[in-house]
Amino acid sequence: MIESPLLTKLTGYIGGRWTDNAEGNTFDVYNPATGAVIAQVASMSEQEVTAAVEAGKSALRLTNPYSIETRRKWLEDIRDALKEHREEIGRILCLEHGKPLQEAQGEVDYAAGFFDYCSTHIQALDAHTIPEKPKNCTWTVHYRPVGVTGLITPWNFPIGMIAKKLSAALAAGCPSVIKPASETPLTMIALFSLMDQHTDLPDGMVNLVMGKASVIGKVLCESPDVPMLSFTGSTEVGRKLVLDTAEQVKKLALELGGNAPFIVFDDADLDAAADNLIANKFRGGGQTCVCANRIFVHEKVADAFGDKLAERVNKMTVGDGINGDVDIGPLINKAGFDKVKRHLEDALEKGAKLVAGKQPGELGEGLFFPPTVITEVTRDMCCYREETFGPLVPMALFRTEDEVIEAGNDTEFGLASYVFTGDAERAQRVAAGLRFGHCGWNTGTGPTPEAPFGGMKASGIGREGGLEGLFEFVEPQTVPRGF
Ligand code: NAP
Repeated sequence: MIESPLLTKLTGYIGGRWTDNAEGNTFDVYNPATGAVIAQVASMSEQEVTAAVEAGKSALRLTNPYSIETRRKWLEDIRDALKEHREEIGRILCLEHGKPLQEAQGEVDYAAGFFDYCSTHIQALDAHTIPEKPKNCTWTVHYRPVGVTGLITPWNFPIGMIAKKLSAALAAGCPSVIKPASETPLTMIALFSLMDQHTDLPDGMVNLVMGKASVIGKVLCESPDVPMLSFTGSTEVGRKLVLDTAEQVKKLALELGGNAPFIVFDDADLDAAADNLIANKFRGGGQTCVCANRIFVHEKVADAFGDKLAERVNKMTVGDGINGDVDIGPLINKAGFDKVKRHLEDALEKGAKLVAGKQPGELGEGLFFPPTVITEVTRDMCCYREETFGPLVPMALFRTEDEVIEAGNDTEFGLASYVFTGDAERAQRVAAGLRFGHCGWNTGTGPTPEAPFGGMKASGIGREGGLEGLFEFVEPQTVPRGF
């Protein structure tokens, strides 16, 4: 079992108190590298989730709002606590998620960056008076907190995803009821330990509920006291939340799935493109929403680029992330492993060629999937149409700019995309043509706290990060004053 000074309680946190399930119900948390159960965590009932919403309601201040200075201090304290405890939070994250230790600790720094950004820019949420005086009135715009928000996060960035939401919610003065993914609740409990010990948050301002998604989701969707949900996860669950909140017309912020094209033109620096693809694709074992999912390579450089990729991939190590010196950890669970395997089998059966990695029959036991490169991928293959969420690099060939823009957009998703070319005008045209919220030009980098990030099409609604993200949890209220 996992032991940590940040995990002395394995329960929810409601109204400023660690709160167990009344019947003692728990669920198991696994280390995906070993398969061992490392913790048993409280599974909350409908009554307890409702109590968390009530606690949030009691912390909401509308007529006497928390001052900007107070909110800034909360954000700074969480930032500082994360920085101080980055190693321990990273260790917990590594043990429940599987990503390499250094990468896990880097995710804690990334999370601290969102609290830092919001604390630095919180003044933007102050009220302002517009310079014009239409209709003989003085017009003031206030940014009011939306209210109690439900924050639902996935397992692939156990601290990064909550940091994006919680920093902006606290900046706005919104209490929250937070539900982490059932695979990775321990990192969230550790964050609540830090907030409990190192911040002066009012009771009920942050509440933690864990357990069955159907139970928690039902309360958050149906409660009239929760006017907004911010969700990161699959498009499938995002769609369900749209339907389940339609009756009340709730405000939704949705960060959903991706199917990122990574385009390499024949005038690109192939070594730089290969290095960027490796860094992008194998982060989190390929289990990120911004991982390149379809690699389009100009036919003139396809062989050369494939060789460069194979050379790099063959040097990568796969193993238990806690050992520190591995590049890729295990996949999160058997369903995730089986999906990547199915995509590889399907592609090879339909004519793709293995450039690096193992045949599906040679994969062995456990959740460790070797980095794999295949070429001659076509649009009828599962790995082209679906988000693989694993260390499989599928390469397809293209000839013209128009053809590759059309191919890149040939998906319901619109989250991240990448284009590698030495021609600046072409880069501008391709970025403008790709219907994706993020388009890296000669870089495979994903989001950063300082810039807005989010999806077009079925990849979501709204933005996290940057000033756009800071404004996600406020309702602008206009007050024209007549005399
Ligand atoms: P998921 O299955 O959709 O789950 C995400 C969260 O939603 C989990 O906490 C889950 O709880 C909860 N949930 C499931 N059903 C629910 C319901 N009916 N009501 C309320 N909550 C519900 O996604 P995942 O497998 O954890 O994450 C992977 C997906 O997230 C990928 O598609 C990836 O692309 C996407 N993602 C997107 C972004 C982005 O920024 N756009 C970032 C990261 C990940 P349980 O764990 O208890 O089931």
